[in-house]
Amino acid sequence: MKQQRFDIDLDKHYNATVVIACEECGRETRQHLRTILPDHPLQCSCGADISMAAPDIQKAERQADAIRQSYRIH
Ligand SMILES: [Zn+2]
Repeated sequence: MKQQRFDIDLDKHYNATVVIACEECGRETRQHLRTILPDHPLQCSCGADISMAAPDIQKAERQADAIRQSYRIH
């Protein structure tokens, strides 16, 4: 299975945003984590597939949790 490259950002309300790097053009697409559905087609503006599979989304959620913990949110 293709592993998507992504980073996690938290906004000031601690909503997780996933920044997905396109393998084709290198452009970064930002999408709220909670709006990403497993295997739901997501496209870069160049047309490349940047969908995230369920394991990618779980990994993203774990990363977002780790960031929240590092901010000491209770
Ligand atoms: Zn692209």
